[in-house]
Amino acid sequence: MPGLKSWIRRGMEMLLCVALVFATAAQAARTEGDAPPSVPIAQLVARAKEYDGKILTVEGEAIGDLMKRGNHAWVNLLEDGVAIGVWLTEEQASQIHELGRYGNSGDLIQVRGTFHRACPDHGGDLDMHAAAIQILRRGSKKTVEAKPGRLAASIGLCILGDCSRSYGGAVSGKLRAPDPPGI
Ligand SMILES: [Zn+2]
Repeated sequence: MPGLKSWIRRGMEMLLCVALVFATAAQAARTEGDAPPSVPIAQLVARAKEYDGKILTVEGEAIGDLMKRGNHAWVNLLEDGVAIGVWLTEEQASQIHELGRYGNSGDLIQVRGTFHRACPDHGGDLDMHAAAIQILRRGSKKTVEAKPGRLAASIGLCILGDCSRSYGGAVSGKLRAPDPPGI
């Protein structure tokens, strides 16, 4: 039965082909997942020298205010009590709907971009320039009254305008404070 044999061979070839396609796809996904690496914000801030100038991924809650600067904007990203200022394009910023503050949880965001320990474009501050952002989970207005914890109280004070000082106790990362009026 030569017909059957050739069918089996063809079947095997097809299987091999499919397996190869899957392997290639898996490899591509893995390569994409490997670079850039995901780094906790606390680790990034603590080991800033090591990560300076690197392209990486961070995740955190968008908190405070979206501070517009021409066709860009700043947002503070908070993870485990440490925050970092992220420099976004207008288009990226428009994807953020909810910002964390007292009575509100902000959008959970993944940012891929370049980390700067002392950004030459932004007064030598520690920051991250986003190349791409992804909304992982939408924030929401909390229906249950949150316990007036330290961070919540800090956020409340922050909204009143004294961001860096009021956050100081609860958040060890450098936060980007709104500019004083007139600038
Ligand atoms: Zn910068």
